[in-house]
Amino acid sequence: MELNFCSLSSGSSGNCYYLGNEHHSILIDAGISATAIRKFLQKLGISIQSVNGILVTHNHTDHIRGLEVLTRRNHIPVFTTSNIWKSVLARQKNISADCIRNIPLQQPFQLAGFDIEVFPVHHDAPETIGIHVVAGDKKITVATDLGHICDTAAPYIKAANLLVIESNYDEQMLIDGKYPYFLKTRIQSDHGHLGNLQTSAFLAEIWNDELEHICLAHLSKNNNTPEMALSALSRTIAEQGIIPNGRPVISVLKRHEPGEMIRLSHL
Ligand SMILES: [Zn+2]
Ligand SMILES: [Zn+2]
Repeated sequence: MELNFCSLSSGSSGNCYYLGNEHHSILIDAGISATAIRKFLQKLGISIQSVNGILVTHNHTDHIRGLEVLTRRNHIPVFTTSNIWKSVLARQKNISADCIRNIPLQQPFQLAGFDIEVFPVHHDAPETIGIHVVAGDKKITVATDLGHICDTAAPYIKAANLLVIESNYDEQMLIDGKYPYFLKTRIQSDHGHLGNLQTSAFLAEIWNDELEHICLAHLSKNNNTPEMALSALSRTIAEQGIIPNGRPVISVLKRHEPGEMIRLSHL
């Protein structure tokens, strides 16, 4: 069987990720407008009606912008933890009540034919989760907003065959940039975002033959470029003596448009 993943948008202006097969599909976050989500899905030949549910990672606007409209107009059920629900509903009061679904932390549940487990990550929202999806013998992990990779999150990230992980900022560019001091400190903190070197070092550590595809996600507009994120990773793996042989495939997700459709074969 085949599992398809596509980023519709990735970064601080909006995050939305599609995961599906010929029968079912889910979205992870809805941080761009409902109109943009419908339009991007249509471009990929996917109808919004076929989306079985939306998983929400935390209450920052770049992850929930389109939720109200998608629940009111399309009645798509939305899944997240009770703590995240509290923080989401504080910002989006008009989410349709019949679309609210609670899910537990670190306990597998079924959605759209997938086995899903969500795990806590450190980020500056009331609660933030990463998403781990199992389809047959393949595992996909999405972790886009986290200040560091704690012992709870690490096993889910290490187990992935397809890994979507944040590589938010170039450390030097952030230090030299125009952001006020408090914001620089917040971004760099353990509850902020992962920098290129942090992500690269972790990836070099977990590099293994089962890892088929890495997507570098949530790049900062002001403090990073796709080239910088990629070259940090190339340099770091070279320093560790890893010789890239075309696997895992490495992509950088685009900020304002869908990336390539990534296809994983599974049993
Ligand atoms: Zn974000
Ligand atoms: Zn965030």
